[in-house]
Amino acid sequence: MPEITFLGTGTSNGIPVIGCDCDVCQSGDPRDRRTRTSAVVRFDDRVILIDTSTELRAQALANDLRRVDAVLMTHAHADHTGGFDDLRRFNELQQQHLPVYADPGTAAMLRERFAYTFTDVYPFYGGKPDLILREIEGPFTLFGHEVVPIPVLHGRLPILGFRFGDLAYVTDAKEIPDTSLDLLRDLDVLVLNALRERSHPTHLSFDEAVVIVQEVRPKRALLVHLSHETSHAAAQARLPVGIDVAWDGLTVATPGVWPAGAATGRESGG
Ligand SMILES: [Zn+2]
Ligand SMILES: [Zn+2]
Ligand SMILES: [Zn+2]
Repeated sequence: MPEITFLGTGTSNGIPVIGCDCDVCQSGDPRDRRTRTSAVVRFDDRVILIDTSTELRAQALANDLRRVDAVLMTHAHADHTGGFDDLRRFNELQQQHLPVYADPGTAAMLRERFAYTFTDVYPFYGGKPDLILREIEGPFTLFGHEVVPIPVLHGRLPILGFRFGDLAYVTDAKEIPDTSLDLLRDLDVLVLNALRERSHPTHLSFDEAVVIVQEVRPKRALLVHLSHETSHAAAQARLPVGIDVAWDGLTVATPGVWPAGAATGRESGG
């Protein structure tokens, strides 16, 4: 039974937005303070970090995150990679390399932008991250369990969501192809991005997200990656029963089991 903690649930600006006097940015509701979108999935004492948001350090401190066993990258946009260098602290704490999983396009961008993190020069003293980049080519086995990549479209950019047994995490989607919708059926928990009420070229709106949830029918859906255009309370009030807006620091456990990985899947060396 994997468990997810939302480290960040805001869009690329975060909330409050710098220099913004709107009601949401000035709100006293702590759920209206959203750092850039990221999450950790925990199971069997293993900790999987999804994306390295700009605020990774602050998120780790706020959530007492002391260990990361693997990092899964959805895509290489700045709000999802801005905290990449902070991974070095986990190398130092754990005295080991950290595997980073990404699709080939994202891997190429990570190699270009963070080349120094993939060269193995220093022995985990904390001066730089020491990472092993693993390219995702399909479902793979992570610490004995199957992770299923979910290809989605972020505008024209193909990116990945991930399924961990009865839990799936899809951020920054605008379109989900039918073949990927089929990978999202029979879930206990679906995490899905929803930016705002108005339509947007590269993100689902609230209404578009609701259509997808009603198509794949998880027991519960949680929305992330919100902009400052709608408060937590107002967004929650307009959603059907079973669809909730996540907030920074929320933890949700899933009741089901997470099947063991197929024998052919690639195992992370850990
Ligand atoms: Zn604002
Ligand atoms: Zn993005
Ligand atoms: Zn994003």
